[in-house]
Amino acid sequence: MSVFDHPEFDNHEHVAFYHDEKAGLSAIIAVHNTNLGPALGGCRMWPYVNSGEALTDVLRLSKGMTYKAAMANLELGGGKSVIIGDPRKVKSPEMMQAMGKFVESLGGKYFTAEDSGISVTDLQTMATESDYIAGVKAQYHYAGEVPDGNPAPSTAYGVFVGLKATVEYGLKRSLDGVSVAIQGMGHVGYRLAKHLHEHGAKLYVADIYPEGVEKAVAELGATAVAPEEILSLDVDVLAPCALGAAINDQTLPAIKAKVIAGAANNQLAREDIGELLQKRGILYAPDYVINAGGVIDIFHQRMESSSNEALRTHIEQIGDTLKEIYTRAEQEGAATNRVANVIAEERFSIKG
Ligand code: NAD
Repeated sequence: MSVFDHPEFDNHEHVAFYHDEKAGLSAIIAVHNTNLGPALGGCRMWPYVNSGEALTDVLRLSKGMTYKAAMANLELGGGKSVIIGDPRKVKSPEMMQAMGKFVESLGGKYFTAEDSGISVTDLQTMATESDYIAGVKAQYHYAGEVPDGNPAPSTAYGVFVGLKATVEYGLKRSLDGVSVAIQGMGHVGYRLAKHLHEHGAKLYVADIYPEGVEKAVAELGATAVAPEEILSLDVDVLAPCALGAAINDQTLPAIKAKVIAGAANNQLAREDIGELLQKRGILYAPDYVINAGGVIDIFHQRMESSSNEALRTHIEQIGDTLKEIYTRAEQEGAATNRVANVIAEERFSIKG
């Protein structure tokens, strides 16, 4: 299998493969770019059908982290790791220890954290073998909730701040009375709904499971909507907070909202959907910019001298970054997702 000719290979600095037969570990770490600082990115454990599929994922995701860190004003680069295997079937403490050794072997060029299939407990096991495990310490919080290592509250606060900035820019109004449809009442979606409710927004919520929706109806006065109807609701704002590719060729024609601002990763099925949104006069908050609260949180938790206030202030910069993107997109007549990519590239191309 070739790495340098791989379609997802894009000047990655370092791609490492690791196998520990005794521990049952087959894993890949990809470090995309460290110009701004050491690479940070979660460890994903997934039953990839083969190592080629795992390589595709790790190359693509590590590059995405470089862009995310650059746009979040973090002195970090982008990296990612993947473990091949079903986390419910083959994960073991020995495997997590071996993964810790693998991360350690890169000598601090790459820090790992949580992703699908990897829990805080797994990271704690990795941390017995490596100093480069993030997401295990929780000392600061922007407000309210007791820190427990879960970055979702910070992600949700960042999405709230970003959604507010997008409404101000695109609809020229405050959140009071704005109608918002939220797809997904999970860790981030529910917390976003709470912030919006506190600022006078009218909420419409959907999930494929009833618990989160019932809670939002009872506690936040939200209106429950069927999952198949949430994206096409006649509302001001659509907030995708479930899975990726919510905005695709099938869903796009029915979208009536004039703002799309949500937490989900990879919301656009393809990059050129950005231009289609622009043509329809829909202002799109680039996903990796608006959902960076979690990575900002992980960064601050590792700092010796941060504070709740510093974390909060850093997350609030998401609103300013989005306004910078919208202004430039308007000046250049370009789609917001493209402008975000260009600004990120300008930032991380300069060696720190
Ligand atoms: P979660 O799993 O807690 O919540 C997702 C919710 O979406 C679940 O309740 C699920 O039942 C629901 N859902 C799935 N398919 C749906 C559908 N078709 N219609 C309606 N609801 C559906 O995940 P989360 O932590 O809240 O993350 C939400 C999104 O934000 C994900 O895309 C995630 O990658 C992204 N994100 C999360 C964080 C974080 O800190 N948790 C950070 C950055 C990005």
